[in-house]
Amino acid sequence: MDDKIKYGIEHSKRTSITIILKSNGEVIVRAPYGIPDDYIDNFVREKQSRILKRLSLMKSRIPQTELRKFEEGEEFPYLGKMYRLKLAENIIDIIEIKDEIYLDSNYKHNIKSLLKAFYRDKAQEYLEKRVKHLAEKTGFTYGSIKVTTAEKRLGTCTHYNDLRFSYLLIMFPPEISDYIIYHELSHIKEKNHSPRFWKLVEVYVPDYKQKKKWLKENINHYKFF
Ligand SMILES: [Zn+2]
Repeated sequence: MDDKIKYGIEHSKRTSITIILKSNGEVIVRAPYGIPDDYIDNFVREKQSRILKRLSLMKSRIPQTELRKFEEGEEFPYLGKMYRLKLAENIIDIIEIKDEIYLDSNYKHNIKSLLKAFYRDKAQEYLEKRVKHLAEKTGFTYGSIKVTTAEKRLGTCTHYNDLRFSYLLIMFPPEISDYIIYHELSHIKEKNHSPRFWKLVEVYVPDYKQKKKWLKENINHYKFF
């Protein structure tokens, strides 16, 4: 016997049934008013194997922060892709990223803090280049760039136009971190979140609303704490 899928039902004034798979693994069935529960149940059962396949695919792609143990074999994000953590002997740096993330096995009791430092260093290196490049495109002049391990604020722009970014940016897909960079660069001209500010962001990131939505839905999977 296969497992029965658990799902929630949302009734609305629609005319057809749709199955929604949420990023947290929840299954929601949207159905018109008046459709009997066993009809919905049959509908879901018919698509059960496809749904289960999709769910396991989603699970394998999402780093489950809350379940992370910081052990060998776990997957960690880097520039939007997932890399498996492997312990290794005789590597030059304590942590190296190639086809996988390799960590010197002598340091296996300290994985979490070493990974944080690794991400922060890589983010600093990446963002210095990327911000310079995007700033040239926009014509804005910034002061300094600093990367922190803050996880609440992804970016800030001070009154002196010094930019601060969270190390989480190195984990996100590049188009998402680009949005955050353009967002902070736009604050050089508009130090607020007025409609004028968002108009400016839209010039550089026409689909910035989708990027904001992505962040809202996904950021918790990236945080270390
Ligand atoms: Zn802002």
